[in-house]
Amino acid sequence: MPGFLIDLDGTMYAGTRQIPHAASFIKALEERGWPYLYVTNNSSRTPEQVAAHIRDIVGIDADAEYVLSSAQAAASYIAERQDGSRVFAIGEAGLRQALTEVGLELVERDPDFVVQGIDREFTYAKLEAAVRHIAAGAGFIMTNPDHLLPGAHGLSPGAGSLGAAIRMATQIEPVVIGKPSPIIMRYAVERLGLPAGDIWAVGDNLRTDIGGGIAAGCRTALVQTGVATSANVDAQIAETGFRPELVCRDLAELLERLDG
Ligand SMILES: [Mg+2]
Repeated sequence: MPGFLIDLDGTMYAGTRQIPHAASFIKALEERGWPYLYVTNNSSRTPEQVAAHIRDIVGIDADAEYVLSSAQAAASYIAERQDGSRVFAIGEAGLRQALTEVGLELVERDPDFVVQGIDREFTYAKLEAAVRHIAAGAGFIMTNPDHLLPGAHGLSPGAGSLGAAIRMATQIEPVVIGKPSPIIMRYAVERLGLPAGDIWAVGDNLRTDIGGGIAAGCRTALVQTGVATSANVDAQIAETGFRPELVCRDLAELLERLDG
């Protein structure tokens, strides 16, 4: 039985627009009883908010239990460590909820870890605090490395661009949790409960979705509905060096090829 780790933006929806065949793909997985999980680098939304967005945009049933975000994976990663549970967080609701949900304490002083995700209220004061905490020995965790986010009105700086300021100031490299990091993929594979080799990593981004899938030992399927398009896919494969097992026009073609 195959399992699926499915990317959201560029794969299921594009911002507030449904991507064709996303709903019928999920319905087909449900009918066959094939397990799946939505895996997103977005740390700003809670899993409940992500599920609500899927329901609203794609028009299918979706539940928070079917979502794994980079914020949740970052929280699990810290909770597993023995180095302490005091966390200074730069991020939004999704990150804060994920951290407190696993029993970590959000603090402003003397943290054991600095965790940084997208924060649309990022300030010099937050940057300064993070830099001082890391210089004093706190671990540095970044939810996801995405440097740009596509939006309705153009590109916006992502979590990776904020993290770049912390890296520059501290000269310390963070532990990166989100795709293509194998850390989030390891939690995703665990949640599905299948061998990695039976799981398809599905997404529109060669560097994150396909790179992460390969790093985790999963099978990989690229859809050309987001970052990758039919016009740029060959150049992107050449540039990233990642060669997905399947290159599909969209989720409908992926389903056909799984059946073929
Ligand atoms: Mg995507």
